[in-house]
Amino acid sequence: MSMVQYGLWSNCTNSCDFCLLMDREYKTVAKRLNMIAAVRENIKEIDWKGQFSDGISLLGGELYYTESEEVKKAFLELIEDIINAIIIPNKKAVYSTVTNGIYDSAVLLEPTLDLFKKYELLDQVNLNFSWDLKYRFHTEESLQSMIKNTNLVYNKYGIVPLVQTCLTQYLIDAHLNGTFNLFDYQKANFPHTELSLLYPHKINTGKELPDFFFTRESLFRFIKYLKEINQNEIVQRLIQSVTNSAQFKYTGLWNRDTLYYKNKTKKELHQQPTLENKQILTECGHSQLYRCYADSDKCMLCDLLKVL
Ligand code: SF4
Repeated sequence: MSMVQYGLWSNCTNSCDFCLLMDREYKTVAKRLNMIAAVRENIKEIDWKGQFSDGISLLGGELYYTESEEVKKAFLELIEDIINAIIIPNKKAVYSTVTNGIYDSAVLLEPTLDLFKKYELLDQVNLNFSWDLKYRFHTEESLQSMIKNTNLVYNKYGIVPLVQTCLTQYLIDAHLNGTFNLFDYQKANFPHTELSLLYPHKINTGKELPDFFFTRESLFRFIKYLKEINQNEIVQRLIQSVTNSAQFKYTGLWNRDTLYYKNKTKKELHQQPTLENKQILTECGHSQLYRCYADSDKCMLCDLLKVL
């Protein structure tokens, strides 16, 4: 089975150096409302029970901050549609989403979770926060806001969120030279969370980040280190997330050139989800996305499966 993910818009003020978004155009209120309307139509066309019974994922930019009451209202209407069309009919389906956590949770994160609470469906929410040791937080205030919000969702809603971080050379080096320990950091700052390492994606900011992509040897050393400190579970989760990216997460409304505008054809609204360029496989049978070493064109997923 699989799930469908929709990237609603790229609007985000955080300017992470490693942001992967290709489309950096700021979407006006009118365009965001049109996108929401398109998704509300498109989800009626999908076989959620038969083909995508694992549910739906909504991604940004950043979805849980908006200056517009209209966007907020429309977003919450979309959430109600999702609850009624996808989550209620299938106990296995989840609503999965991610936030950078730096904004005031009262704007949209809490209202979204309040809806799931109203329908007693909080156990079908898969909430992810993004964290990074070097490239994400530009001020102490934004970091503290993310930490506060991870704790808030546990204390107020009983949700154990996943804190995702990109596995980078910088993060690996910090562990191997003993200057940082992610597991101690988690205990001290967001103890009611689970951690997930993500493979490094393409950088689309035009910035050169020399300590972002890790070398092959660094990955082997880091996996050995994780095993020595009995953190096998996080290695398993890394493999799972790497595998899921290419085989499990279909993209909704992939052909979206005109979707932000008013005149949408039936054909555009009735698009079926696709794996788009993710299913381009290399000779090992895995997606080309995993040829992501700084110093080698070998497949990271093949290596991970071998060292286990
Ligand atoms: S928080 Fe996410 S969307 Fe925003 S700049 Fe950073 S990586 Fe890009």
